[in-house]
Amino acid sequence: MLKVAYNPIYRHPLPEGHRFPMSKYELIHDQLLYEGTLRPENFFSPRPVEDRWVLGVHTEDYVRRLKTLTVPPAMIRRIGFPLSAGLISREWIITQGTIDCSLIARRDGVALNVAGGTHHAFPDRGEGFCLLNDVAVAASYLLENGLARKILIIDLDVHQGNGTAVIFRQEPRVFTFSMHGRDNYPLHKETSDLDIEIPTGTTDDPYLNRLYDTIPFLLKEQKPDFLFYISGVDILETDRLGKLKISRDGCRQRDAYIFGEALRAGLPIAVSMGGGYSIRIADIVEAHCNTFRIAEKLYF
Ligand SMILES: [Zn+2]
Repeated sequence: MLKVAYNPIYRHPLPEGHRFPMSKYELIHDQLLYEGTLRPENFFSPRPVEDRWVLGVHTEDYVRRLKTLTVPPAMIRRIGFPLSAGLISREWIITQGTIDCSLIARRDGVALNVAGGTHHAFPDRGEGFCLLNDVAVAASYLLENGLARKILIIDLDVHQGNGTAVIFRQEPRVFTFSMHGRDNYPLHKETSDLDIEIPTGTTDDPYLNRLYDTIPFLLKEQKPDFLFYISGVDILETDRLGKLKISRDGCRQRDAYIFGEALRAGLPIAVSMGGGYSIRIADIVEAHCNTFRIAEKLYF
């Protein structure tokens, strides 16, 4: 049975008037239940991650500042929303969700977190709506516990996984691959193990072809035994932050391809949602739900 991490705290709303809808997590959960793709027993509710695993990636000082709500104002501005105790515990729970998904994926082949993919979180700071780097914490957890030998992070959110790139710069056991919009945030890109910059306005075929040319090569060269996938849907043409022109069906084909390659190679894959900022929230929810529908169909 497909296992999906979701805790009611995921819906924790941002302060009134914030311009990005964060209730998408709740809507994804509700839609998948409503249409019958998933049943209540598919979902499990993560607990907060233990600090020792967070500290495998983030600095003590940063973690302390988050927990005591003493993050300096300049950093809060870069994060993009005011912090609250609720948002902090939400982040700790989402991060454990990604660890849980990685453990379940080792058993079932796949598991998905209805949130996460917060790849703009650096060791000592957050930015771009990201506080903790859930995928990095989970990758470091797997390595630390001898549960993976070589990890490939496939980050297909439209924004570069700059925090992830910096976190694993000196870690040969984690290969960071980010395929993102060339002209999208962050303006200053970090160096991942492999970065592919997609020009503004790119449509389905050239986008998917870059992926088809890259993934088999990476699997062959890097020989990972575990995959993390950040399935951001801000590549959609309807996205108000992304600058690509990928259709909803193109986005669906992207997800189907990644799951297909993972299955073919017999590699466990843990999925975090990443971004999605289409004007109509229905576009975001529909594209994210496709990721779950495909996983359910291919694996179970
Ligand atoms: Zn993004």
